[in-house]
Amino acid sequence: MKYAIFGDIHANLEAFQAVLADAEQQGCTDYVCTGDIVGYASDPNECLRIVRDMDCPVVKGNHDEEAILNTSLDGLNPLAKQAMEWTRAQLNEDERDFLTNMKLVRQVADFTIVHATLDTPGSWTYVTNKFDAMASFSYQFTQLCFYGHTHTPRIYVKGDSVEPLEEMEVNLEMGRKYFINVGSTGQPRDGDWRASYAVYDADNQSVEVRRLEYDIQKAQDKIIEAGLPEMLAHRLSLGK
Ligand code: ZN
Repeated sequence: MKYAIFGDIHANLEAFQAVLADAEQQGCTDYVCTGDIVGYASDPNECLRIVRDMDCPVVKGNHDEEAILNTSLDGLNPLAKQAMEWTRAQLNEDERDFLTNMKLVRQVADFTIVHATLDTPGSWTYVTNKFDAMASFSYQFTQLCFYGHTHTPRIYVKGDSVEPLEEMEVNLEMGRKYFINVGSTGQPRDGDWRASYAVYDADNQSVEVRRLEYDIQKAQDKIIEAGLPEMLAHRLSLGK
């Protein structure tokens, strides 16, 4: 079994298509989504359709949740607010039902998936350092867990202590746990504009975070054509 694990697609269809094409080339047999399918870019409906057609395990992200609420968006920053108002207006009843029914945490085969953290998955806090990762590790009952939310790929390893790796690939060792941020497919924020996702090779017990170029110009043009804030197009090039 070889899993393609992706998330934070954020309605960026071009990036998502590049990830799926690469996953196929890599020989991935299974697909798993760590949430935030919608929000920010111009193709929420099509990205949702693809995830639903794949019928893959998926967990809810904060944007997926925000998109189905009728609550005020005043707490969001102006960019996110404008994008969320636009996104809410695009979704039909059926799509809202799908988003409503997504779980916060799921176990898939021998690993776990969550969008933000394992210790408080519904409060959407961020894992930005090893201390945050340690809090999640105390609720991680599988050797391996994949998450997203920060839009920054990172591999945390728990042996005697918890440390992030420099590398973006790892061979899993018995007696250690791994908490792996797969990065963002549709809006990376680590200064690298390329789409990010992870491949978990269950037979060889290895994980690799892969980065892929995609048709960013097309994605940016569509954001502007949709009437979404221009900054949302611009930030894709910056990778932040
Ligand atoms: Zn996100």
